[in-house]
Amino acid sequence: MNKKIIVLFRNDLRLDDHPALWHAAKSGVILPVYIHNEQFSMCNTAQSFWTYYSLQNLQATLDDYNTQLILRKGEVISEVLQLALDTEADAVYFNERFLPTERNEDEQLTNILQANNIEVKAFYGDSLFNLSNIQNQQNKPYAIFTSFYKRCLQEPVRKPLGQPTNIRAFPTKVSSLALEQLQLLHGNWYHKFHHYWNPGIDGAMEQWELFVERGLFDYQDKRDYPAKETISKMSPFLAVGNISIRLLWATCQELIDDEDNAIFSQQIESFLRQLIWREFSIYQLLNYPTFSTDSLRSNFQHFEWEPHSIRLEAWKTGQTGYPLVDAGMRELWETGYMHNRVRMVVASFLVKHLLQPWQEGYAWFEHTLVDFNAANNAMGWQWVSGTGIDSAPYFRIFNPSLQGEKFDADGAYIKKWVPELALLPAKYIHAPQTAPTAILEQAGITLGDTYPLPIVDHKTARARALERYNAIKKA
Ligand SMILES: Cc1cc2nc3c(=O)[nH]c(=O)nc-3n(C[C@H](O)[C@H](O)[C@H](O)COP(=O)(O)OP(=O)(O)OC[C@H]3O[C@@H](n4cnc5c(N)ncnc54)[C@H](O)[C@@H]3O)c2cc1C
Repeated sequence: MNKKIIVLFRNDLRLDDHPALWHAAKSGVILPVYIHNEQFSMCNTAQSFWTYYSLQNLQATLDDYNTQLILRKGEVISEVLQLALDTEADAVYFNERFLPTERNEDEQLTNILQANNIEVKAFYGDSLFNLSNIQNQQNKPYAIFTSFYKRCLQEPVRKPLGQPTNIRAFPTKVSSLALEQLQLLHGNWYHKFHHYWNPGIDGAMEQWELFVERGLFDYQDKRDYPAKETISKMSPFLAVGNISIRLLWATCQELIDDEDNAIFSQQIESFLRQLIWREFSIYQLLNYPTFSTDSLRSNFQHFEWEPHSIRLEAWKTGQTGYPLVDAGMRELWETGYMHNRVRMVVASFLVKHLLQPWQEGYAWFEHTLVDFNAANNAMGWQWVSGTGIDSAPYFRIFNPSLQGEKFDADGAYIKKWVPELALLPAKYIHAPQTAPTAILEQAGITLGDTYPLPIVDHKTARARALERYNAIKKA
């Protein structure tokens, strides 16, 4: 009963519904450990800001149990082995991860620990379903989201485990680095994120409760409008595991089961459908290990991209002359987040209007998103680019100005993030170059000076993209 168990914390920085912790707490005394591997883990990114404050919050929460979170830095396998040998641990428990490199690391870790007579238990990771069970009738992975979605709905969802009532720490003291020594934070561009977020377990619950109260019952109707903010903003909390995906599912199911909410069931189901999109991305990562680096449609290997550092820079800094694109890119830089509708528009613009390889966009999002997640990011980019298995056809090219008119009709979102356009009437805000000179003057705008002219013409860019696409169709 008093087994000494090391529990590894990775992208599951919470105590609630943490299967490895839950089972370890029932079986013995525990040593919670977080190891920062500089080679693979991210440093100096928006997400390392998130990880830093999540670790701080996790440590404070564990303090309530008189248990210290042990922080180490270095190569994970050797660090864990050394720690297990030094502390004479009987076992190491962890939750599964989904990235091919991570799975490989876990497999090697398991082999080495077992070779040293240390027990290893891997528990299911942060997914709703047992994804390895989900295959089509030909025993192949589902390629179409709708079929995958319907199949998932027949599967049981794992019940959240709650938080262990009792956590007992190892009897002897174990040395730990200070959080600062992990060097997760170098620069200072992300300090402003504090204005927008409260990373960690407590912040996750606050955000979730706020969304259930103010956004969930309207979700389907309003989720596409970036100025409305009726989306959950749970993605950064989910990305490092401050909250369990199964808890979100269970809360929604309870609300659906309550007859008083019958008229809202479609709204709530629409939210659950998005959670299954997240499952679909993990599923693709598991089935296609190069999902986050290579186009799944092999004909795109021949696609003639036009790498262009000036255009790429204009996109990154929100200086394209397309207001919705610029608003999104500036929201991203300022807050580490961007609304999903706008992500689709900026991604399409980069890949189709500017002909930059989607991997460039992936890399910029990896650096700047607080919710960066390899599976979702890869699916988002491959979907928009038309390179994924179930993706938007390449020939469907978003017109950024029309997208703005449709989803930000009064320009409230644009005015927030592109303040130099704030005085422009809504009629012109999605295409300032169409405004008469007098209107521009009244709004204090000099195109090409206070706000850029469009860096590419929509019609020309569209025709060029289609031409490139037709070339690979024949290849
Ligand atoms: C080019 C591109 C890149 C993206 N990169 C990421 C990324 O790195 N990390 C990330 O979490 N999401 C990514 N997404 C998906 C989506 O934009 C975000 O999950 C969503 O905007 C997060 O905001 P939210 O939590 O308020 O979402 P909500 O609308 O409240 O949805 C709730 C949850 O459902 C899941 N979800 C919602 N939409 C999607 C989707 N389209 N695909 C997969 N899961 C979804 C997320 O876990 C989200 O937190 C990307 C989308 C695109 C088009």
